[in-house]
Amino acid sequence: MQTHNLGYPRIGSNRALKKASEQYWAGKISLADLLGKGKEITEQNWKLQQEAGIDLIPSNDFSYYDQILDMSLTVGAIPKRYNQVVLTKTNNELDLYFAMARGYQKDGLDITAMEMTKWFDTNYHYIVPEFYKNQAFSLFSSKIVTEFVRAKQLGIKSKPVIIGPVSYLLLGKEKEAGFDKLDLIKKLLPVYLQILGELKNHGAEWIQFDEPFLALDIDEKAKEAFNFAYAEIRKQFPTLKILVATYFEGLKDNLTLATSLPITALHIDLVRSPEQLDDVLNAIPKEMILSLGLVDGRNIWKNDFEQSLSFLKKAVAKLGSDHLLIAPSCSLLHSPCDLDLETDEKTLGPEVKQWLAFAKQKIDEVVMLKKLASETPDDTAIAKLAENKKAIANRKSSKLIHNEGIKQRVDAITSKDSKRLNAFSSRKKIQQEILNLPLFPTTTIGSFPQTAEVRSWRAQFKKGEISQSQYDALLKKETEETIRWQEEIGIDVLVHGEFERNDMVEYFGEQLNGFVFTKNGWVQSYGSRCVKPPIIYGDVNRPKAMTVYWTEFAQSLTKTLVKGMLTGPVTILQWSFVRNDQPRSLTCNQIALAIRDEVIDLEKAGIKIIQIDEPAIREGLPLRKADWKNYLKWAVNAFKIAASGVQDETQIHTHMCYSEFNDIIEHIADMDADVITIECSRSQMELLDAFADFNYPNEIGPGVYDIHSPRVPSKEEMVQLLEKAKAVIPIDQLWVNPDCGLKTRHWAETKQALVEMVAAAQEMRTEVLV
Ligand code: GLN
Ligand code: ZN
Repeated sequence: MQTHNLGYPRIGSNRALKKASEQYWAGKISLADLLGKGKEITEQNWKLQQEAGIDLIPSNDFSYYDQILDMSLTVGAIPKRYNQVVLTKTNNELDLYFAMARGYQKDGLDITAMEMTKWFDTNYHYIVPEFYKNQAFSLFSSKIVTEFVRAKQLGIKSKPVIIGPVSYLLLGKEKEAGFDKLDLIKKLLPVYLQILGELKNHGAEWIQFDEPFLALDIDEKAKEAFNFAYAEIRKQFPTLKILVATYFEGLKDNLTLATSLPITALHIDLVRSPEQLDDVLNAIPKEMILSLGLVDGRNIWKNDFEQSLSFLKKAVAKLGSDHLLIAPSCSLLHSPCDLDLETDEKTLGPEVKQWLAFAKQKIDEVVMLKKLASETPDDTAIAKLAENKKAIANRKSSKLIHNEGIKQRVDAITSKDSKRLNAFSSRKKIQQEILNLPLFPTTTIGSFPQTAEVRSWRAQFKKGEISQSQYDALLKKETEETIRWQEEIGIDVLVHGEFERNDMVEYFGEQLNGFVFTKNGWVQSYGSRCVKPPIIYGDVNRPKAMTVYWTEFAQSLTKTLVKGMLTGPVTILQWSFVRNDQPRSLTCNQIALAIRDEVIDLEKAGIKIIQIDEPAIREGLPLRKADWKNYLKWAVNAFKIAASGVQDETQIHTHMCYSEFNDIIEHIADMDADVITIECSRSQMELLDAFADFNYPNEIGPGVYDIHSPRVPSKEEMVQLLEKAKAVIPIDQLWVNPDCGLKTRHWAETKQALVEMVAAAQEMRTEVLV
């Protein structure tokens, strides 16, 4: 039995790569400095895994931006528009690479970046390969070989990791019509074979091909591509040890396909899909090695050794220990680096800390499982098992986690709790009377610019350099100015601006019971961007009102309506590390009840419009379509629990960005928000079609301008978009608003854009009158 790892976090334990890349982009450090930092991180990672005792250590899991972009560069899938970069610059491969990732505005050139999208159901984003009809591939970058050689020089015979050819194609996008990306397999494969040849010449023994699509819904054509690709590889390299890695889901209907590929080893994710073990053990051919993904690469909980050992024993009994590998469930890219760095007991107390494991600790767990699975584990291993059992048992019964009152309240939820008192049609009339809004009412999504100044107040307050009352006074001034300015330009429904918030999930997590935060638990989101998700460890409840103070303050300044602003339960769940000792749906209902209480408190405080943001509801969709229905049922219901505690006259808004609604529109309608604001401007209102085709009954604010860019849109552009919207949605259902919150924008462009937006709404109104 051997241990291996699928990939290690590459940002460095103190986000060294983030800092170095950003300095390089800003021209503050040289290319050699950046490359030096990259080398340092890979060497640290390799040594750490070697010292821990991992048998097969991955290489090429490091990346300066994204591993899929690495592959596009490797196989020369470089869109033509980047040719100019190569010609005008000093021919530096990394500059070309960053141009593909981030766009290029230098030397009089303005080249757009490649598209970025979410990596399966994680919060990591990859750079989408672009494929063209006459797509050619040729070996362009030999990073994978160089990395292997470098590890070898350090005495580590690594296992290079490469995205498998079929998944690589499936991850890409056809940028013109008239071909199927899977047909490119024949052109692509020779480059893979060339790479494998070079790796083999340098002494590589094992290669890991990541093929996550083997665990997803795929069609016949993709299945054929798998058979073809691995038969070719095997034919050329009969002795190379080929490991195909699947993760994030179970093999399910692809089990026969996966186990019949001519490969040496197959990796399965037993965290996401423990129930697949029996089927895989029955189906796997005698000569194939099975890699058991036992340690959760996606979450931060300590492994339950007893449970993992029971899986291991079963597998040993069936396959024999020389036909087994032990590993994390997926790459540790999705875990924070090192729990040992969390030394602040005020942030993360010892009781919760003993339940956790970050990447470095997960590596130790993998090695420990191997020791414990041996026939004669040594005393230290036995002691570790006892320690692990104690921590697991403590977590099961801890008072910190379990709160009977909350459990009873969730149990007592009935269908009445997720239903408004009356149907939207009657609510609409009552709301119209009370709110008295014009046609095409204008509003924004919540946040206004979080300037460096606002952020510096929060930093000073956290460090204790200014007092609570000083901090509040500063925020009040900012809020008041924002309210005055919105009144001045004639926005119909105002917002307080969210200046008191660091992040839309963190702000609520910090005020709810059941959450903890880390100081250093960063995870790569894309490129140099990292996120630090909160950890939901226990039953969630709300000790006191969270937003009433600021909303009430803002409303006290004006006679115009101020909208209360909350983050919804599904989004809070989706953007946190979630407890694994109960179903996600249950945790979500606990959060929903906390938000419900907040909504009711806002109503009591006289707030007539309340927005519950759910930008993450779509990305929470399970990877397998068969699981969608169940997810949508509990997710939509959780939103409704949060939204339905109010009277008919209180208007509930929700907001979602980056959403394609076509396939889930009926569930969006089912959420029954009085108003939904969505992202629409980048698709030129195309997204609205789903709402129009469905005859979406409630009100909609299709974003009329893209807040992700500093560009100021003109009134005419927005009128045009609104005309498009008006063509498909009845006018008494339409709102006018930007795409998303404005916190990343500067005031100058925000002010200009919103003045134009109000003017656009006014023009639409006059048009209706004539
Ligand atoms: N209310 C939030 C804001 O305006 C919404 C952010 C989001 O949708 N991502 O910042
Ligand atoms: Zn948004």
